[in-house]
Amino acid sequence: MTETLDRIMKTADRPPLVMVRGAGSWLWDRDGKRYLDFVQGWAVNSLGHSPRVVLDALQAQGGRLINCSPAYYNEPMAELAALLAETSGLDQVFPCNSGAEANEGAIKLARKWGSRHRDGAFEIITMHGSFHGRTLATMAASGKPGWDALFEPKVPGFRKVPLSDLDAVTGAISPRTVAVMLEPIQGEAGVVVAPDDYLCALRALTRERGILMILDEVQTGIGRTGRFLGCQHAGIAPDIVTLGKGLGGGVPLAALVAADSVSCFEYGDQGGTFNGNPLMAAVGCAVVETVKQPEFLQMVAANGTYLADRLRALAADRGHGEVRGRGLLLALELKGQDSKKVVTAALDHGLLINAPRPDTLRFMPALNVSTDEVDEMVARLEASLG
Ligand SMILES: *Cc1c(COP(=O)(O)O)cnc(C)c1O
Repeated sequence: MTETLDRIMKTADRPPLVMVRGAGSWLWDRDGKRYLDFVQGWAVNSLGHSPRVVLDALQAQGGRLINCSPAYYNEPMAELAALLAETSGLDQVFPCNSGAEANEGAIKLARKWGSRHRDGAFEIITMHGSFHGRTLATMAASGKPGWDALFEPKVPGFRKVPLSDLDAVTGAISPRTVAVMLEPIQGEAGVVVAPDDYLCALRALTRERGILMILDEVQTGIGRTGRFLGCQHAGIAPDIVTLGKGLGGGVPLAALVAADSVSCFEYGDQGGTFNGNPLMAAVGCAVVETVKQPEFLQMVAANGTYLADRLRALAADRGHGEVRGRGLLLALELKGQDSKKVVTAALDHGLLINAPRPDTLRFMPALNVSTDEVDEMVARLEASLG
């Protein structure tokens, strides 16, 4: 067993378990132990493990056409683009494989637009604490503490300001600025919500100054917050939005979505071998068709309220801190307890949760999690807190 695991590069601090099976909110390791999964692939398995709609889409599309090269159109690719245009209110879609790739595409598109329409402007204002991915450009765009010194030299062209500080953005805009890029909720930073009025003001400011607004909704999109996109709570539409994680419901799928006015890529500017792959796109269509239904989104919001209420009651009971977030992207701030230790204790109690910060636990269950499963999670969490 150890020989096989030893060949995997040490890029993540994984517990010594091997997961073999999943169903809904549950995951099993190869020793037969069962875990209640409130990580769900990092907010990826929107409909839980191995949901029927995803299996059906894989089987139907897998039997028809798995891959035909991005040199040709295919039906699921077109259908996915139409669905994402409809649900985002934007126009043009570039399907890809990961959130980082979608953001990389957004950065390239903004730079291209700047070279065409803003006198060569290329600088993008991003936020302290932000997370946009692990390619060189998306790491440079990210404001994650400790990343500044990594993998020098950095890709230039990013300027960072504090989140939710409009004056800081105003002060950072120069003739070189082409865009502002941010997450409506900073997930990796510990579920830090950008207030709606700030997002509205930022939308107005970027319009007024003739620069683009790019929203990274890789974590907040696809129903996670109880709306199809996180920015829809604020009633705004960005110029560019990136999607990933929950879009594929567990398969690698992401998308760059842009308004017509910004979609200035020319042939050869952007591409990739697996982009628009019909098998992945067909799964994305099945996920989006399910999640975009108003009843489904209402259920997510209701599940989110239920989970937040249960966490608040637990926090009050045990003297912990605030519960932050929206829909089913929630965090609990711990007081006097190390979140990493709680995550380890939770593993023993058959519960998977995440610790984005030393004092914060994050909850990202399946969007269709049941109230019984939330109750079970809270019981296991209480046991894990000791
Ligand atoms: C996860 C995440 C990314 C990166 O997505 P990958 O698929 O891991 O490349 C980018 N932005 C946000 C907000 C994320 O949560």
